[in-house]
Amino acid sequence: MKAFLSPPYLNGDDERDLVAQAFASNYIAPCGPMVDALEREAAARLGFAGALATVSGTMALELLARALGIGPGDEVIASDLTFIASVAPFVDRGATPVFVDADPATWCMDVGLAARALEAHPRARALVATDLYGQCCDVDALAALCRDRGVRLIVDAAESLGATYRGRPAGKGAWAAVHSLNGNKIVTAGGGGLLLTDDPDLLARCRKLAGQGREPVPWYEHRTLGTHGRLGNVPAAIGLAQFRHLDDALRDKARVWADWLARLPGWATPMPTAPYGVPNRWLTVVTLEGRDPLRAVAALAARGLEARPLWKPMHLQPVFQGAPALLSGVGEALFARGLCLPSGRGLDPVSMEEAVSVLEHL
Ligand SMILES: *Cc1c(COP(=O)(O)O)cnc(C)c1O
Repeated sequence: MKAFLSPPYLNGDDERDLVAQAFASNYIAPCGPMVDALEREAAARLGFAGALATVSGTMALELLARALGIGPGDEVIASDLTFIASVAPFVDRGATPVFVDADPATWCMDVGLAARALEAHPRARALVATDLYGQCCDVDALAALCRDRGVRLIVDAAESLGATYRGRPAGKGAWAAVHSLNGNKIVTAGGGGLLLTDDPDLLARCRKLAGQGREPVPWYEHRTLGTHGRLGNVPAAIGLAQFRHLDDALRDKARVWADWLARLPGWATPMPTAPYGVPNRWLTVVTLEGRDPLRAVAALAARGLEARPLWKPMHLQPVFQGAPALLSGVGEALFARGLCLPSGRGLDPVSMEEAVSVLEHL
């Protein structure tokens, strides 16, 4: 591949320097000062009272499912147009998902349909809304709906690190927000995640659950089952160096987005930008008029350019067959027409020109 969809991007020697520091201190694992610094700096930069660094974004969501005590018989309302990791940790613990379609103006959860889902499923315990492709969901509107009903609002902000909503960082205003530090995201630790919350009790509970549920006593005392979910010090060093360059990453992603828009033909329409926020432009995503996205993916791949279709809606996934869903057809239409373009920070104009020419000759 000449151009991957969203490859990792190293900021000079900064990642290597912090990893070398971790090695020099012998804090290879577990925990350590890089983990503490990452949690402290992430919470401060992203405006939350606390952060927990986890082995993945999926793990951060699993910890929230565990903290909520999600089990068989529970219902969880979730975005339909998302990656499966938004919902799998809850369903895996026994919950029934209730999928809510996307708003055509934002591609994130449709607030009107979310209200109807909450009406129809009064026993729902949580609502998990995804910030799609770096654009924040309408967190104030969703928080108001959830507050009225005692439902916990979780924002899956795995794709929106650095994005803002009404001037606030992604997910602020929710019970908890989750970021991913996976290799394909805007900031990476190689693999990892962040759980952010303003609720100190929740943070302490998740920290304990991530450490096998161990009680804070000198011997191994367990009153609850946990898991092994905390990030190690070496990946945290990579993540910390990356996180300190978040503004550079945002600037580069905005440039890639603008460069694509300047080149794309009229039949490729960019994902709409919601008036309430500033997306992080993690991926440049378009819908195609009169062209088949799967043919585009294959034609681009033949030239070493990686593109992908959009997330396939959850209600179309065989594993969720029969799950309740409030659908408007928006997610299905976007899936049928959408294309994610190569969006790496180092993407060169030559590759863009080549991709546009491939698309024009489909
Ligand atoms: C990447 C992603 C996740 C999962 O993050 P990992 O760190 O890979 O576990 C969850 N939800 C969404 C929407 C994502 O894009």
